[in-house]
Amino acid sequence: MQDDEPRLADITTHLRDVVFRTHRNGYWCYLSPAWEQLTGYTVEESLGTHLIEVVHPDDRSMNLKVKQSLEIGQTSASRHVKRMVRKDGRVIHVEVDVRMALGNENEGRVSVGTIRDITERVEMEARIDAERQRHEAILAALHEGIASLSPDGRIRYLNPAAREMTGWEPGRNIDEAMAGDERFDGADDIRNLLKALAGRQAKPPTQPIQLAVGSRRLELRLAPLEQEPGEEGGLLVIRDVSAEQGLLARLRHQAEHDALTGLTNRRAMHDILRETHAHAAHTGEPYALLVCDLDHFKSVNDRHGHAVGDQVLQTVALRLKHLMRPGDRLARWGGEEFLCLLPATDPEAAWTIATRLCREIATHVWGDELEGGAPTLSIGMACWPDDLKDPQKLMLSADDALYQAKRTGRNRVWRITPGHRAQGA
Ligand code: GH3
Ligand code: MG
Ligand code: MG
Repeated sequence: MQDDEPRLADITTHLRDVVFRTHRNGYWCYLSPAWEQLTGYTVEESLGTHLIEVVHPDDRSMNLKVKQSLEIGQTSASRHVKRMVRKDGRVIHVEVDVRMALGNENEGRVSVGTIRDITERVEMEARIDAERQRHEAILAALHEGIASLSPDGRIRYLNPAAREMTGWEPGRNIDEAMAGDERFDGADDIRNLLKALAGRQAKPPTQPIQLAVGSRRLELRLAPLEQEPGEEGGLLVIRDVSAEQGLLARLRHQAEHDALTGLTNRRAMHDILRETHAHAAHTGEPYALLVCDLDHFKSVNDRHGHAVGDQVLQTVALRLKHLMRPGDRLARWGGEEFLCLLPATDPEAAWTIATRLCREIATHVWGDELEGGAPTLSIGMACWPDDLKDPQKLMLSADDALYQAKRTGRNRVWRITPGHRAQGA
């Protein structure tokens, strides 16, 4: 072997890997020229030194274990990765292939092998790993749920937010994850979305899909992934819109209702009147308007204070509402004025209801706070199409009728028909 060394050196001169041989006790007895490039030490400097000297302190015990298991024949060869410290102090990563061999008579058993510099690869892997960890940290910190799906709907990845919102698990098929689970409402839309994904549709639905999970409202959007063959699929972005929708519903309610009584407000009632009239004009079904105004309400405020006046308005709203049939609409039309819309109601039925409203307020038993001055109600009534066909004029007719009810003594219903005047108490 010793005689072969010049020839071996010739062959190994141009090798980037280091070829080595060590004595049984671990001292270098041959190093190919690449050693100098790898470690910064000349071959002459290193021959006769112990291999452990260039091994990074943290990898020395591992290295000694490998050496030991080779020596006692536990393994015949080893491939391991370790760090070495170069002469200039820089740490490099190397992959070592080593096995035991028989040396010359003087040497006995020796170790032979190669050392490959894999620093670039290790550093690249570390960079990729750090990048992946950064992405995962971003995904983990997102409030939005992110789910990566394969074209057949299998969940490849879920960030913590998506897992928490949906209760899905990676590895499961999204369809199966929802099958038979009553908490999910809107699963069919997701199925259609998955079909679009499986069909590789160029343009999946642009509108978000609504999914209810119990009391939670989720909004899902799908973005197809254009990737390597076998890596296609979609990215599902999931947003919890429960709070948003709750807020919207509250705002909508506020916009359409009166804060004091909770009744429909004047603005919203205008829309309802328009819709009811359009429907009636189409079907020919009669309807009636009742403009209801509390009598001498100013004196309630004057005698008992504004706060009691407010309570009276709330009670009146409740009492009137209580007498409404399904489909009837009641609004706070002004200060102490209420508007009642009775769809699909002829004048006789409307008259009956109006007189009942009057009686309800007149006979209501008030608490001590209103002692000696309980309010009554006057109502002006107008009926479509009997009284007038024009909805604006119909409202004016109801106002005129209310004026007449007040003028003739209050606590009564009044209606102005084209031919004659009717009155009730
Ligand atoms: P009439 O029988 O002619 O209808 O007499 P009235 O006193 O009811 O009529 P008027 O329009 O003169 O007075 C209405 C009163 O209603 C005046 C106002 O202070 C009161 N009012 C209006 N809105 C509210 C409210 O939100 N709360 C309270 N407490 N009072 C209100
Ligand atoms: Mg009044
Ligand atoms: Mg009034």
